[in-house]
Amino acid sequence: MTAPNETLSFQAETKELLRLMIHSLYTDKDIFLRELISNASDALDRLRFESLTDSELLAGDDKFEIRVDTDKAARTLTVSDSGIGMTRADVIANIGTIARSGTGELRSRLKGTGSASDVADLIGQFGVGFYSAFMVADKVRLVTRRAGTAEATAWESEGLGTYTVGDAEKPARGTSITLWLKPPDSENGLEDYADDWRLSSIIRKHSDFISYPIIVKTEHEEEGEAGKDGEEPAEKKTVVEDSTINSMKPIWKRSPAEVKPEEYNEFYKHLSHDWADPLKTIHFRAEGTFEYEALLYIPAKAPWDLFYAGAETGLRLFAKRVMIMDKCEDLLPGYLRFIRGMIDASDLPLNISRQRLQQDRQFTQIRKRLTHKVLDTFKEMFAKEDEHYLTFWKEFGRAVKEGVAQDFDNRDRIIPLLLFQSSNDPEKLTSLKDYVARMKPDQEQIFYLTGENRAVIENSPHLEALRAKEYEVLFMVDAVDELMLQNLNEFEGKKLKSVGKGVIEFGTEQEKEEAHKQLDEKKAEFTPLIEFLQKELDKHVKQVRLSSRLTTSPACLVVEEHDYSPMLERALQMGKDGAPKQRRVMELNPNHPLILRMQQRQAATPDDAILHNAAELLLGLSLLAEGSELPDPIRFSRAASEVLDKVI
Ligand code: ADP
Repeated sequence: MTAPNETLSFQAETKELLRLMIHSLYTDKDIFLRELISNASDALDRLRFESLTDSELLAGDDKFEIRVDTDKAARTLTVSDSGIGMTRADVIANIGTIARSGTGELRSRLKGTGSASDVADLIGQFGVGFYSAFMVADKVRLVTRRAGTAEATAWESEGLGTYTVGDAEKPARGTSITLWLKPPDSENGLEDYADDWRLSSIIRKHSDFISYPIIVKTEHEEEGEAGKDGEEPAEKKTVVEDSTINSMKPIWKRSPAEVKPEEYNEFYKHLSHDWADPLKTIHFRAEGTFEYEALLYIPAKAPWDLFYAGAETGLRLFAKRVMIMDKCEDLLPGYLRFIRGMIDASDLPLNISRQRLQQDRQFTQIRKRLTHKVLDTFKEMFAKEDEHYLTFWKEFGRAVKEGVAQDFDNRDRIIPLLLFQSSNDPEKLTSLKDYVARMKPDQEQIFYLTGENRAVIENSPHLEALRAKEYEVLFMVDAVDELMLQNLNEFEGKKLKSVGKGVIEFGTEQEKEEAHKQLDEKKAEFTPLIEFLQKELDKHVKQVRLSSRLTTSPACLVVEEHDYSPMLERALQMGKDGAPKQRRVMELNPNHPLILRMQQRQAATPDDAILHNAAELLLGLSLLAEGSELPDPIRFSRAASEVLDKVI
């Protein structure tokens, strides 16, 4: 059965991306070749792997290679591979659209970008390698035949609004991609890509390690046969021959001392489909009972989907140089999902299932060792490379924090790596160790407060008394902090204490006692007001009490030691309309003039109408001060205007 030729439209995002790509002033246009070769190599990897269990796929042709051919007269360049190929449906799914789930995300990011290098960064991040062909070509034609099938499909586009898909003839499996090259324009980084010498040098630079031969037809002149005595030598003749350009040496098998940083970087780009250099490379060989090589990378930037479910993660897994899994998620714990790279183990069976892998002892050992290696690398950066570490932390810190809750065995390795915002310095992050070093002599606990952002926390009434004592407070502003804190009770023997939870007491024993005494003395006097407020605000407040936590604010809301913090509560309530809220504890500042006047007024005229409004406002203001929403904004504003009405 043959399907008709179809002309289809690109998705809006793809169209926008192509437009940017074509007009981008991105200077390093050479890399389109790396992208095409990288895809070809992946297709060969897949075929090699699938043919382990289904040798029919090869149909007697076990040539695994990539060819780069040119036609100078027609100014075309063709990259072809004898890999797995694609069906018509694959072509439409993979090539007609951006095959990733992040198209909406990409669209919004594209809108916000300005410079050409931003665009290039984005293109790299979203893994749209194939389209880079349009940086150098006016038209691209792809012909492909899936291994094990007889039909071939052609895809063609000029990179504008549409593409066509139709049936084609192709004698052998695999994919070949022909580019109708734009004229060279070296000012805009467009070299002559019909030139064999140029192509060979790009291949050597970017794709040397590819483990399949990359063959280019090269031309050179040879002297003719030397003439007989006294005769002129025969004319020079042009010899055209196939040359394998790349060394094919697997980088991970080489000794780290021999591999240049650029080589590591190129291999990273091939593995990760990222266009930027990695931040750090980790390369080692494990010897002993289980032998394997590992080549891991910390990327320079977090992928856009680091915190999305379903993001693609995992390392490539090789067994004796054969790739047996493209994205093996089980080699590292979830919180290290941003690490890219590969491992090559000598003793893994080629056809091992994912399930068997997870139970395999060797595999568990590898996972443990890789995790330690990665954490050791973080530690080393932390100790010796401030700048690098900060860059790393900004991108991946939130993921690392998940490790405190997820990876019990390595918690002690992870905790010293954590950095936090703090009241000590608005610009600088601090580690727990540095915090402890700055603790005041009489300070027993490490104080923190969770909240939406720094500005809200900084102005929170909860901090007032700590500020007066010059105690430092850590500001926990990431959603993941709550989860982390549930598993982080102390550091170097000092307890972590939320200043928004439970009763706060500090200072020497004597100071604590003094504070107790003062509050006790006031208790009798304030009881009627406390009871009034308790009744009035019962729906939202489970207890009203006096506190020495406040200096300048009249009141604040706290939760009990084991309740959710307001930030966690908000997160838990998201999407659950009308979910019951926790009732909170209201703490009053008995020295504040407002509270004092309320107390006096309530004592003198217990049924004074303004007291109801005052209670409402006290609750509302306390909520606003901690960045929470008002439960009933209409009631709050009515109370506010009635009170204003009385005073103005
Ligand atoms: P990426 O390679 O980052 O996924 P591309 O746009 O380069 O993005 O390619 C999209 C998809 O098209 C690939 O994931 C692969 O499934 C398919 N593809 C591209 N080139 C080839 C090829 N030479 N052989 C087989 N499939 C290919």
